[in-house]
Amino acid sequence: MKPKYIVLDRDGVINVDLFDYVLDTKDFKFEEGSLDALIELGKNNYEIIVATNQKCINLGLISSEGIKVVNDYWVNIVSKEGVNIKSVEVCPHRDEENCDCRKPKTGLLKNAEKKHGISLKDCYFIGDKLSDIECALAHGCKPILVETGYGSRSIKERGTRENLTIVKNLKEAVQKIVIGS
Ligand SMILES: [Mg+2]
Ligand SMILES: [Zn+2]
Repeated sequence: MKPKYIVLDRDGVINVDLFDYVLDTKDFKFEEGSLDALIELGKNNYEIIVATNQKCINLGLISSEGIKVVNDYWVNIVSKEGVNIKSVEVCPHRDEENCDCRKPKTGLLKNAEKKHGISLKDCYFIGDKLSDIECALAHGCKPILVETGYGSRSIKERGTRENLTIVKNLKEAVQKIVIGS
């Protein structure tokens, strides 16, 4: 069977956005239903790519290794449920560094494509910020906005993007995707 890929933002989608940085594993709390949603994706043969902006690294609040500890922590919990996270792509840069990977730029997706020899075009991309939506559209992915995290704010700020698919949370997004596929 041809593998299906899906791109997920992390903060506000998989875990509760603290409106601050997750610098420690104890601050990583799964959003309601998100673990179940990841399991559901796994059962339906989706391979999961996570694309996350973490400027806290270059702000000097945490090292890349520290971020890896946090990501290993939750990826390990998920893998114990039988779900493999194919990769977690992290942008460490601040806005003013003008990197190619800080969303809405698409470098994180390109990195994952290169690393795994895959294409993420036409994949679903679930996020809570307009930068996720812009990144998805720029790369040819199908964006879904969740109301969790910054989602409710993003809905107010979405301007002319009236046709945007909006769901309550990751669980609802996955239900929609799985039923439709
Ligand atoms: Mg987010
Ligand atoms: Zn970057």
